[in-house]
Amino acid sequence: MYNVFTFIVPIITGIIVIILLLLLLRKGSGETFDKTRTQQGVFHTSCPLCGSGLEKGQRVKSVLFKGTPDSMMEIYGCPHCYPPNNKIKRICPVCKTELAPGNIVIARAFLKPDKTHVHVLGCSECYRRKY
Ligand SMILES: [Zn+2]
Ligand SMILES: [Zn+2]
Repeated sequence: MYNVFTFIVPIITGIIVIILLLLLLRKGSGETFDKTRTQQGVFHTSCPLCGSGLEKGQRVKSVLFKGTPDSMMEIYGCPHCYPPNNKIKRICPVCKTELAPGNIVIARAFLKPDKTHVHVLGCSECYRRKY
């Protein structure tokens, strides 16, 4: 009986360690996936429209239109300022005017394997006025 235990205990310990390692690895890969997703928004610390600080998990609502060589991005706002409300105004970072409820900010997105760089071009008003 004693001999059996001296064999089984290290095996069970080994299995537990392997399971823990697998769990850790799975958690780790999940986190990197999350990071690449937040990088789509790049500004995950503060909202580009209202300047509100964003907590972990809060994302700026944006839609990415993939293209070559550059992609375009439509930015709607963060959970604080979108959907449009009376409390927090959405200000265009380019023309500094308040966005009308139906207006959005347009940005150019440079997709790189490690990071997405977003360059804000303007809102529906000031960006399209140039054309
Ligand atoms: Zn916002
Ligand atoms: Zn503007």
